[in-house]
Parts: sequence; structure tokens; C-alpha cells
Amino acid sequence: MKCPRDESQLARAKIDGIRLHKCLECSGIWLEFHKLEAICGLKLSNIESHIQEIDDASLNNDVTSGGYMRCPRCPKGRLQKVSYTFMHPIRIDRCNQCLGCWVDKGELDAIVQEKTTLDEQFSESHFQIP
Ligand SMILES: [Zn+2]
Ligand SMILES: [Zn+2]
Repeated sequence: MKCPRDESQLARAKIDGIRLHKCLECSGIWLEFHKLEAICGLKLSNIESHIQEIDDASLNNDVTSGGYMRCPRCPKGRLQKVSYTFMHPIRIDRCNQCLGCWVDKGELDAIVQEKTTLDEQFSESHFQIP
């Protein structure tokens, strides 16, 4: 697969056993549907430092550019800007076909932090007796 931004080959990588693809040029990360949630569930801080690159360049998939970014997986997939998270919306690029997500450098950390904070607030309020 190729980076939707700069068409570099994406390297296979993983965080705590969750597989993902990372661009070594721009440090963007490609996550398939559900993997973003799974990574948030790990509750790791500084999540991007947990990324382990898997040494294997592979796969060929033509990415042609045309005003928008194309999904590295789907031939017809088109990445659309969506807001992820709640209090401080973070814009990520999501494929309209497979719902995979492209996350730019730094954004994954921001998403995980935000989600962890919200989860803590929720569980605190949940267990408090008024
Ligand atoms: Zn890139
Ligand atoms: Zn796709």
C-alpha cells in the first residue's frame, strides 16, 4: 500500500499486537476500521512511541492523485475529512468505502488522550454517589 499523501510505500507496523501501516516519510498512520477504537482501548499514553515497525515493504496498489487522497486499500475509496472525538474535534481522513482511517503524525496521540480523558470522566461520574 502507498501513502495517500506522498505515495511512499507504507511500512507494516503494530502497536501492542494491533497491526497497522505507517508511512516512514510523513509518519502518517493507516488504520483499518475498528483498529482506531482498539488502539484507544489500550489506554497507552504517547501512543505513537509504541509503534513498532515491521520490516517488510510489500504490496502494490496504484494510487493516483486527483485533488483528494485515495484510500491505500480500495481502488475506488476516497478519503474524506471527518471529525473524530468530541470536545476538541480532531480531523482525520476516513475512507468512504472501507472506513479505514488515515491519521497524520501527532493526531493519534491526541485522539487517544482525548478518549482516555473522557473515559475517566465517565467512570468517575458513574461511580459517584450524589
Ligand atoms: Zn506519507
Ligand atoms: Zn478504503
